[in-house]
Amino acid sequence: MKLTEAKFVQSASDYRKSPKPLLPEYAFIGRSNVGKSSLINMLTANKNLAKTSQTPGKTQLINHFIINNNWFLVDLPGYGFAKAPKAEREKWDKMIWDYLANRENLMCVFVLIDIRIEPQTVDLNFIDALGEKGIPFYLIFTKADKVGKVTAEQNIDLFKKTMLMTWSKVPPYFVTSSEKRIGREELLKAIDDLNQS
Ligand code: GDP
Repeated sequence: MKLTEAKFVQSASDYRKSPKPLLPEYAFIGRSNVGKSSLINMLTANKNLAKTSQTPGKTQLINHFIINNNWFLVDLPGYGFAKAPKAEREKWDKMIWDYLANRENLMCVFVLIDIRIEPQTVDLNFIDALGEKGIPFYLIFTKADKVGKVTAEQNIDLFKKTMLMTWSKVPPYFVTSSEKRIGREELLKAIDDLNQS
């Protein structure tokens, strides 16, 4: 896919206020600071589309972008931000899960995982909850430029092994670096393929 146009559509605190579900939609989510904004900016070749490095926990909205007038890209709030008050976290959680469980045009959720660190419970729990609800997802390992090839492979292997303790298979995954523009074509192709399916 050649990405020719990326436009911000709207932010909403309730999925019911999202744009009409007339186009296929892809949501991006991960722990705060995982590199989600950078990845969205890399994908859309736009330095400012998603704002990078905001105070974690600040952008707690469902952000819709329209790509090539053909599909929606959704930037979801980061999860696992421990410093936020419990009541706030519960509110975001509900907003995210209401969206994920009910958005009828949602084709796939891209769950971002920091390639540098060992599997995190908060990520594994999130993935398990997607599985329980039957929501399709792919994995995106971020910040690949920050580790060597061997470490990257070891960490991905460990993540896979950990997942396979509760899952029968591992979903498709992508290795990316926003810094070095790694993985962009593969991701856009995967979205293209899902759009055609
Ligand atoms: P978000 O909170 O998930 O949206 O994360 P950001 O995109 O704001 O990134 C968090 C921090 O990680 C920032 O300082 C980014 O510059 C840095 N970062 C994000 N992606 C990459 C990457 O691929 N490589 C490197 N080296 N740094 C990255």
